[in-house]
Parts: sequence; structure tokens; C-alpha cells
Amino acid sequence: DILISQYLEQSAKAFPHNSALIFQGYAMTFTQLNDTVCRFATALKKFGIKKGDRVAILLPNVIPCVVAYYATLKIGGIVVFNNPLYADRELEPQFTDSGVKCLITLDLLADRMVKLRKKTDISTIVYTSICDYLSFGKRLFFPLLAKKNGLTKDVGPAPNLYKFQDVIAKYAPDTSQADVTMDDVAMYQYTGGTTGASKGVMLSHRNISYQVQQLEAWFPEFVKGQETMLGALPFFHVFGMSTSMNYAIKMGWRNVLVPKPQSDPLLEAISKFKVSFAPMVPTMYIGMLDHPNMGKIDLSSIRACFSGSAPLPLDVINTFQKKTSSIIVEGFGLTECTPVTHINPFQGKRVVGSIGLPISDTVCKIVDLEDHTRQMPIGESGELLIKGPQVMKGYLNQPNATAKTITEDGFLCSGDIAQMDENGYFYIVDRIKDIIISGGYNVYPRDIDEVLFEHPNILEACAIGIPHPKRGEAVKAFVILKEGETMTEKDVIDYCGTKLAKYKLPVAVEFRNELPKSNVGKILRKELRAEEQNKES
Ligand code: ATP
Repeated sequence: DILISQYLEQSAKAFPHNSALIFQGYAMTFTQLNDTVCRFATALKKFGIKKGDRVAILLPNVIPCVVAYYATLKIGGIVVFNNPLYADRELEPQFTDSGVKCLITLDLLADRMVKLRKKTDISTIVYTSICDYLSFGKRLFFPLLAKKNGLTKDVGPAPNLYKFQDVIAKYAPDTSQADVTMDDVAMYQYTGGTTGASKGVMLSHRNISYQVQQLEAWFPEFVKGQETMLGALPFFHVFGMSTSMNYAIKMGWRNVLVPKPQSDPLLEAISKFKVSFAPMVPTMYIGMLDHPNMGKIDLSSIRACFSGSAPLPLDVINTFQKKTSSIIVEGFGLTECTPVTHINPFQGKRVVGSIGLPISDTVCKIVDLEDHTRQMPIGESGELLIKGPQVMKGYLNQPNATAKTITEDGFLCSGDIAQMDENGYFYIVDRIKDIIISGGYNVYPRDIDEVLFEHPNILEACAIGIPHPKRGEAVKAFVILKEGETMTEKDVIDYCGTKLAKYKLPVAVEFRNELPKSNVGKILRKELRAEEQNKES
């Protein structure tokens, strides 16, 4: 039983001079990172933060984000990660629900947060500039230039408002580890809200620590102290937090931070720093494949790409692997499981279209959708239930939701419909809440998305159910075409007709330039559904 903050100490001892974090060309070694974390731990204590107090981190992937996270856990505080792009009306309920006392954020947001804190229990705010750790980044070397580009902002003054750099310089490092148990809550992590209102998931020290042990056990081919991680998934989301930030720290790898995971900086980071392990979400693969330089830039350093959070279209897997000669291992997870529960083997048999096998210490079953009393036979669909050391303690302040989600014998009900084949590989069919019932038939929107993605003119697609006078519900498809391509509604429907049963065919197609996405780039079916409902009312 080792705490996640102790993994940082271990890596600092084992690989003191290895780079831990790379940010815009600036490298911070494991010794420097550990020292900075210990200084910030002292600062948090000076601000009156004690064991069990909540510290919100509202930052993109910058060095202070990693520092604030590890320092909070080291002193026994509870981390509340939030999306820096959220509006006040999204942040306030999370700050109050979790009772945040201290907030670490960007200078660009600090004045806004000083106003917002009046409605919350937040007493102290620490802010940092995106550019604080730029030592030789060409673009932003001069503070004035950074200001002109809107990347820094003068802040304050206000009571209990501090600059991150000043705090680090002022306080001496405190290396002590708070007396916490593996069962104590380490974080409140709000779910993505893809299907409903966002809930605070209580993750324990055991959850976050075991998750990286599970990743280490799953990829024995990747050696400690020797790989370069891509730090492009946002760390404020549990997928990036575990599979990029925490995993790299445990393994003593360098992590190349990319605060804006768009195709240009992604391609640059991978090629410039020879990234070898790249956890990404489907929209990142799709964006990179569509980039004009794809195929010209050398991406051969990548050994493994890890994909999760949403289905990765088969066509994207095949094209990406061909163009980069890398291997994509698809996995699966959810916030409630810190998040990973399944992964395809890296060297063993990878099944394209499957989420792979349960990772170590993880037990899964597939049960009937009606009352969960029957275990489904091989090849038949049911709800996926999961048990393991990564399963959350429960939802914050929501005992009823917790009781509905975790069974008495400790299985988490995922809300996903899945199947298992005779070799033990799992397949996600769809989310229970997304099913479209058309003329009495269950239509899985994923099926339709998958077919649309295969069309050479289509970049992104998402199908939803809309009310239909005869069938109850019918399918509507939202489509983004690749640049320069044209298609009519009829073209799309006719094409689907060659691949799908009649009852699954879209009755309407809407062409868009953009689709609503969650903070990890998941297409938000829920929002498209809401837009349709608003049109009707
Ligand atoms: P909320 O749970 O609040 O609706 P969310 O869906 O964004 O929001 P997450 O915990 O981020 O919450 O996502 C978990 C879900 O993502 C899973 O339940 C599953 O539906 C989907 N998912 C994750 N990985 C995959 C995958 N490889 N293939 C298909 N679906 C996936």
C-alpha cells in the first residue's frame, strides 16, 4: 500500500536528474518537482489547509497543476479538479457541493474567481501564469509579448490572493507525509455529465494508487525511467490524471505537457520530444489524421497509443496505425473507476473494436438489463458490472445515487451495455441512456456513428433519437464533412442503406461545422438531443 505522493518521492530518489515534466521547452527534473511540491505543501499548511480540507485546482496541463495536486495529497487534503473552461454557473455548484477552501487557478481567471469566492467557502486563491515556467519557449519569452497575446493578466490585489511563484520562493520544503489511510478520500472528481448532471465521485487514495499499479502491471514492456509520455489529455479529467500524470510519475518517465490538445501542438510535441506512450481520446486521433502534415511529420517514436473515453471508430484505428506504424490499444473506463477497467493487451492478441480484457484485480460480469438477476451468456448483451480496487467509494452527498450504482456485493453498475466473447474480450454496445427505440426495436446510435465514420467524406458523426409519429423514435444523424467534400442528406441516407437495416436508417441528416464536445473531447449526444427537444417545444 503506497500513496501516490510517495511514488513521486520514490521516482525522485530513483531518477533524480531525469526530466519529470517538459513544458514549452522547459524541463523540470524529478528532484525539482519533488522540491516544488514540498514547498507548496508548506504553503498550503500556512494557508490553514488541514487533512480532509478541499483544494480545487482549476488549471490546464501546466507545471503548477501537477505541483498543486501532489502537494494537496501529501498534506492529506482532498483535490477537486475542475475544468478551467467552465463558466461560473458550472463551477459554483461544484465548489459549494464539495466545500472548497483553497483554489489554485490561472491569472487569467483570478479576478473572476475572487468575485466568485464570495458565494463559496473559498478563503485562499493562488494563481499562476501559463507562461510562468517558460524559460526559452520562443513564442512567449518576453512577458510583454505574452501579455499582448492575452496569455497573462495583471491580477488583484485582494485579501488572501497569492502568486504561485512567490509562494514557492517564500516557503521552505516540508517533506512530511500526512497520516492518511488508503481508504481516506483523496479527491472529489466530477463526472463529465455526458448523460446527466455532473456528480462528485469520491475517489480514495487506494483508488488512485492502485490504478497506476494496474497500468504498470498491464504494460510490462514499458520500463521505468525510460519512456516519454504525452501529457495532452487534461489532468483535471480522471483519464488524463491517471493514465498520463500519475502513471508517468510512478514510472519515472518524462511527461510532455500540452495544455491545448489540438493537432498542431500534439504533432509538434510527439515529434520534437520523441513521445513513446500517448494516451489520447478519439477526437485527437481524428484531428491528427485530418492535419495536412500528417504523413510528413515523423511520429515513429510512438510505441503505444492508448485510447479510451469513447468508442474509437475502426476506420480511424486502421488508418492511424498504418500512417504512424504505432499500436493503438483501446481501453475502457469511467470516472467511477479512476477510470480504467479494461485494456487490450499491448503484445498479446488485440481485438479491434473490443475494449479488451479486465485489468488486474478487476472482476466483471454482464447482467440482464431488467433487474440484474441473470448473468448473460457469452455473446449476449447486458449491463456491465465492475468490481476492483479502482471502484469509487460513492458519490458525494448522494447516498441514493450511490446505492443505485454500487451493488451490495461491491459491483459498480456502469450504465453501459456490453458483451463478452468466448475468449473473455469485452465489447461496448452502447450506453443504456443513449438507446433509441424505433418501432419497438433497440437501435444503438454507435452502430450508425460507426457506419458514418467509415465514409471517406465524413470527418465526424453522431446519431440521436428524435420523436417520430409512427415509430415512437427515429434516427437523426449529425455529420461534419471533411474539408472540401460535399454530400446531400439523401446521399448520406442512401449510403447508410447499403450498410444498415432499414429500421436503423436516419430519417434526417444535419450537416454541421462543429459538434458539442465534453472536456475530454467526447461528442455530447445529450446536448444534440436537448437542442432537438428545444426546437420542438
Ligand atoms: P456522465 O457519466 O456524467 O454521463 P461521462 O460519460 O463523460 O459523463 P466519464 O466517466 O468520463 O463520464 O465516461 C465514462 C463513459 O465513457 C463510460 O461509461 C462509457 O459509456 C464511455 N466509454 C469510455 N471508454 C469507452 C470506449 N473505449 N468505448 C466506448 N465507450 C467508452
